[in-house]
Amino acid sequence: GFTGGGVGGGVIDGFGFFCVLLLIVGVLFFHSFMRRNTAALPTTGAQDFRWTTPRYDSALLQPILASDPGFVPETFLQKAQMAFLLVQRAYQDRNVHAARAFLAAPVWNSWSEQVNYLLEQHQRPILENLNVRGLAVTEARAEESGQSVTVHLDYVAAVHFNDDRDGRLISGSEEDARLGEDWTFWRAPGTVTVQGGGATASKCPNCGGLLKLNDDGKCDYCGAEIQSGSYDWVVTNMQRSSFQGVSTAQGLGLDELDPERGLAAIQATDPAFDFEQFRGRGQQAFYSLQEAWQARDLSSSRPFMSPGLYLGWSSQVQQLIELHKINKLDDLRLEELIPIKVTHGQAFDDITVRVTATCADYEVDERTGKVIFGSQSPSRFSEFWTFQRGRGVQTTSRSLQDRVCPNCGAPLELNQVGECRYCRAAVTSGRFDWVLSRIEDADS
Ligand SMILES: [Zn+2]
Ligand SMILES: [Zn+2]
Repeated sequence: GFTGGGVGGGVIDGFGFFCVLLLIVGVLFFHSFMRRNTAALPTTGAQDFRWTTPRYDSALLQPILASDPGFVPETFLQKAQMAFLLVQRAYQDRNVHAARAFLAAPVWNSWSEQVNYLLEQHQRPILENLNVRGLAVTEARAEESGQSVTVHLDYVAAVHFNDDRDGRLISGSEEDARLGEDWTFWRAPGTVTVQGGGATASKCPNCGGLLKLNDDGKCDYCGAEIQSGSYDWVVTNMQRSSFQGVSTAQGLGLDELDPERGLAAIQATDPAFDFEQFRGRGQQAFYSLQEAWQARDLSSSRPFMSPGLYLGWSSQVQQLIELHKINKLDDLRLEELIPIKVTHGQAFDDITVRVTATCADYEVDERTGKVIFGSQSPSRFSEFWTFQRGRGVQTTSRSLQDRVCPNCGAPLELNQVGECRYCRAAVTSGRFDWVLSRIEDADS
């Protein structure tokens, strides 16, 4: 049975915790003291600003919302993206078990056959630079037999198959291509939105235990048949489509504001929010992540990466290691970080900034030390970085980037699914502090 994991407790932990608590109380007291003694903040003229309610295509999703008030389209699409990334990762790893919790049994069976065929043929599928560009709901149905939502996904990847014995390219292309797929998610009648993440957050949607399926595809702890769709959405159809250039925010009818209005609106609901401080955090995140990338070890950056971004980047780091590549970014210098837009959703606020930096970007074969790609002379590049935070979250002195848990204030240590080891809060979800959720090339 599920024992709850984690040892902890005991006198020393309790005392350590008490010290942390004392520290927090002290910090809070100091802050309120400072606040009282600080001149009024300059007004931004945003006091009268009110967010408008997101206008997601209610006509399309109304049948789902009608029977499940906890259904949030924005959060659903995040889960759909996670399911897509997790299945693609399992595909590249040719690990059929890793995808089982997300796919309905018939789909999983035929998908597994393809994967096993690749294993027999010594073909390793590689989705290099995999990056989801946009998602959109194209169809939703609520019927007596169950509910289904079809999601279109636009993504970019260089898809190819290499021989797993010598690494030779067998088929496909090493050039990035724009691709699209349509995935249908289904759940049994009466199933409602899982609180606490569900399968895509590595949690059993029934008992909340760490997701671990036995050989029959049932939760190892509670015996729930996850693939049945009786607990959470499962994929019942995966269809090749084409790149359609969909915008997730527009499809959901989210507010996209220019930086001035958007930042003022955030400040109106979170008075302690300060863009210069945010910019400093953005710069810190930029250098931290680029350093982690070169070191092929993301553990220091994981606390401020959303689960989706972390999954994508960790897959790419794994590929670099397997292909014996090191990506060097010599003389990296961040020149500019400027706000581009603010997106206000039903569950999250996004701040997108454009970072402009220079570096010499090249790949080295670690076995020979030879440069195999790129140039050793510096050049300039621009990217859009999007930071996300739950709506209504307030700025505090606890920052993920300082490795402090924004929920309990303990020194931050993450467990394997990205939760604080002490309070079990899903700190990388954006529900407590800003996390980096998307990186897009601004030049393409
Ligand atoms: Zn369970
Ligand atoms: Zn915590």
